[in-house]
Amino acid sequence: MTGSLTVVGLGPGSAELLTPAVARALAEATDLVGYGPYLDRIPPNGRAQARHASENGAELERARHALALAAAGRRVAVVSGGDPGVFAMAAAVFEAIETGDERWRGLEVRVEPGVTAMLAAAALAGAPLGADFCAISLSDNLKAWEAIERRLRAAAEADFVIALYNPASRARPHQLGRALDLLRQIKGGGTVVLFVRAVGSPEARLTAATLATADAAQADMRTLVIVGSSRTRLIEREHHSPWVYTPRAERDPA
Ligand code: SAH
Repeated sequence: MTGSLTVVGLGPGSAELLTPAVARALAEATDLVGYGPYLDRIPPNGRAQARHASENGAELERARHALALAAAGRRVAVVSGGDPGVFAMAAAVFEAIETGDERWRGLEVRVEPGVTAMLAAAALAGAPLGADFCAISLSDNLKAWEAIERRLRAAAEADFVIALYNPASRARPHQLGRALDLLRQIKGGGTVVLFVRAVGSPEARLTAATLATADAAQADMRTLVIVGSSRTRLIEREHHSPWVYTPRAERDPA
């Protein structure tokens, strides 16, 4: 096995948030594999470089294709938006290795991290992840909706700041509404809710609401939602959107 496979994260959108290590892996690759819109974000590297674009949702198939290319001696980069380990391709690659051709275990496989949407979104708002937080994907393509509800309830009861990935899509328009309804049963109506859309792109937009007023229709598949803990607060400013932060301390130091 002479080929290699690197799973890279492109960050949330802007070239400045793509790490030098990822840029290098992309430049050195003979083959780029990924969802079409992510491949479109990568400028040509000036050398012959094959691009293998696939549909959204075909992760395992895409991973197997990438591994077969690497096994044939190619230097393959598999691309994800954000970080490849967060609800993305890295886990699909390892699942394909675990269940696939024994010889794939001899390949050189690496993961290069990227800036995940949650971190870029938090930075735009201020510091909402300043204390304990968790991340939950609202997509029930790969898990039961009951499991999502159980985790939302547990996270709310433990007073985590909660980052919600995949809040909605055309196929699943109602999930964020159901999630917010569940959270309203446990958390106070004044809890901060942030909608951060297309962070890292020129259309980036941040909207701050409360759990009582949050409108699920504001979110689409390019939105990351952050639901604060009971301690997350706003610093209001004239003519600017407020800063949002969660204090690090949960009690006065002794
Ligand atoms: N691997 C990606 C997440 C993939 S799941 C990462 O680490 O960011 C896809 C979800 O991520 C989207 O539905 C949305 O909730 C969030 N997301 C990805 N890019 C985003 C962006 N630029 N702005 C806001 N949310 C984004």
